[in-house]
Amino acid sequence: MDEFVTTGKKGIIQRHGHGAMSEIEAIATDVIACGRCPRLRAHCAEIARVGKKAHRGETYWARPVPGFGDPEAWLLVIGLAPGAHGANRTGRMFTGDRSGEWLYGELHRQGLASSPRSVRRDDGLTLRGAYISAAARCAPPDNKPTLEELNHCREYLIREMAALHGVRVRLVLGRIAFDAFWKARRELGFPDMKPRPEFGHARSVPLPEGGVLLSSYHPSQQNTSTGKLTPRMWRAVFDKARALAGIGPLAL
Ligand code: SF4
Repeated sequence: MDEFVTTGKKGIIQRHGHGAMSEIEAIATDVIACGRCPRLRAHCAEIARVGKKAHRGETYWARPVPGFGDPEAWLLVIGLAPGAHGANRTGRMFTGDRSGEWLYGELHRQGLASSPRSVRRDDGLTLRGAYISAAARCAPPDNKPTLEELNHCREYLIREMAALHGVRVRLVLGRIAFDAFWKARRELGFPDMKPRPEFGHARSVPLPEGGVLLSSYHPSQQNTSTGKLTPRMWRAVFDKARALAGIGPLAL
C-alpha cells in the first residue's frame, strides 16, 4: 500500500499505509531535527559545552533523543526526559546514567533487553518486546520541562502510541509521564475516563480501548537513593507488567 498522510487533532501528522518500523524511523528523524523549545535546545548545548569530569573528552549527542526499542513491543515505557549526562550525552533513551542502569537491568532480567548495561548508542544493545519513549525529548534544567515544552513534545509520543500496534501495557515512570500519557490518549481521540485514575506506584488501570496503564515511581537517583523506590518494588512492577500482558512468570 502506498503511504498516505492525514492531519489529526492539533495538526498532528499521522502516516498510514506503511509498517510500524518505517513510522518509528520517521518519528525519530523528526525528533532529532526538532527545535521547538529554544530553552531546552540551549540547555542541552550548554551541558555538552561544560561536560562533566567523568565524561571528559566525550562528544555529547546534545540533540533531541528519539524513542528506542522494538516496533512490535508489548511493553511501552514512558519516561520523563533525557538525563543531562545520560541520554543527552549518549543519544539513546536511559543510556549512560544510573536511571538507565535500573531500567535496562530490569528489562534484561525480564528477557526484553539483550544486555543489562546500556552504555552507548552504538553498543549493540537491542530490545525485544519493549519500547522506551518519554514525555520530553530534550534534557530540561532541574529535570523540569515547562507545560509549554511538554505540550510541544507530546506530538512524538502520540505518534509513537499510534504506531506501536502491539502494545498491551503502557508503563509510565512518574507523574509527568502519567499526565503526558492521558493527554496523548485524549489527543488520539479516546475520551477521558471518569473519574480520571490517580497516579500511584504499581497501580494499574484497564483501558477501554484495550490494554492496561501501569504506573511506577521514576527510577531517578532522588527516588532510588532515598529508598522511595527499592529494587524489590522495581522488579515487582515489571513482574506485574508481564502478568497484565498475559505473559507467564519468569523462569528463574
Ligand atoms: S523537548 Fe521535544 S518539542 Fe521541545 S525541542 Fe526537544 S524534541 Fe522538540
